[in-house]
Amino acid sequence: MESAVKQYSGKLINEYFRDYFLTPPDLTVSSPGRINLIGEHTDYNNGFVLPAAIDKSIEISIKKRTDNLIELFSVDKNEAFSVSIDRLNVSGLLWPDYILGVVDELIKAGHKFTGFSAAVTGNIPIGAGLSSSAALECATVYALNELFGLGIDRMGMVKIAKLAENNFVGLQCGIMDMFASMMGKADNAIRLDCRSLDYEYFPLKICGYKIVLLDTQVKHSLASSEYNTRRNECFEGVRLIQQKYPSVQSLRDADEQMIEETITNPVIKKRCRFIVQENKRVTEGCKNLLAGDIYAFGKQMYASHTGLRDNYEVSCKELDFIADECSKEKDVVGARMMGGGFGGCVIAIIKEEAIEAIVKKISKEYKIKMGQELKVYITQLHKGTAAIN
Ligand code: ADP
Ligand code: MG
Repeated sequence: MESAVKQYSGKLINEYFRDYFLTPPDLTVSSPGRINLIGEHTDYNNGFVLPAAIDKSIEISIKKRTDNLIELFSVDKNEAFSVSIDRLNVSGLLWPDYILGVVDELIKAGHKFTGFSAAVTGNIPIGAGLSSSAALECATVYALNELFGLGIDRMGMVKIAKLAENNFVGLQCGIMDMFASMMGKADNAIRLDCRSLDYEYFPLKICGYKIVLLDTQVKHSLASSEYNTRRNECFEGVRLIQQKYPSVQSLRDADEQMIEETITNPVIKKRCRFIVQENKRVTEGCKNLLAGDIYAFGKQMYASHTGLRDNYEVSCKELDFIADECSKEKDVVGARMMGGGFGGCVIAIIKEEAIEAIVKKISKEYKIKMGQELKVYITQLHKGTAAIN
């Protein structure tokens, strides 16, 4: 069973920094990856999500320079990239862009600072839906904020990190990933209201159980085009509802009654119904967590998966297979596909003592039926972005 894509070789990032730049760093920052317990596709509908930071992270060691050069080194890629701070451009290597994007947004926001040297490493599996990119952006913005005393608060840093991904990297993601990485708290999930950005911590009292990620290792090419289609279907639903209920600004404001009354197109109808129900599941799920009833919470997770499969239609046979196998196991409290869909991970809550046997069984079946290896990550909920020694 694998706990990370890359295990640190025992050497710390500040040591890599020293070996590469021949001087010790001023500062090292760690920023975690994230999971989302429930609340899928609700973010761009101004609804609720329930993410949490996990014990896999990106680490960056950084040192001020007296000139305008930005010198970057990736331990994991064994690649370097340099650019002058007043001539930022897309690197062509991808990984530097997440760092440079943050620099670009800070400059646009009016912050002034010199060049710097930085080395990065991490153990968040890339592209598995655990948001390694957001962790890299959050680590960077936190490090630069500390290093140059920019005085930005955590929510301000979340916004800079998101804009870096939107503008420099060019991905129109929402704010959840950066929010979770920056604001995480050990043993807590965070309910985020994607409209107001209000948030509340919910302790995940799951003693004897663990959050397990079952990585299908597939990513169907439909993912990004279908994502855009779903967004548009939801916005079309809002437009139709507004004709009778003008106060509805997003599906966050709608209920099932309104959908029944105003939408005739069966596809738009079931997309909208899913979002309304998913928002309710987040609210109910939080009540379940407060009551310490993880089995009730698990039911919400299974219901979320069913909705994503049948109404929102963003699952795939690999995700369905794993969620279905999980549902047959009494020691799996709940399971659902996590992320945009068409691949990535199933998130499951499993009784600790049963994890090994269940994972072994599902992996074997998955290999036989789907012809793929299953990757498994066991996670703990961790604190957000922070400086480390
Ligand atoms: P994810 O779902 O993990 O966020 P993305 O495709 O959005 O996947 O972001 C992954 C990218 O983030 C990688 O291609 C790489 O450029 C960058 N990245 C992630 N982890 C590291 C790392 N340890 N070192 C350097 N760059 C990283
Ligand atoms: Mg990403």
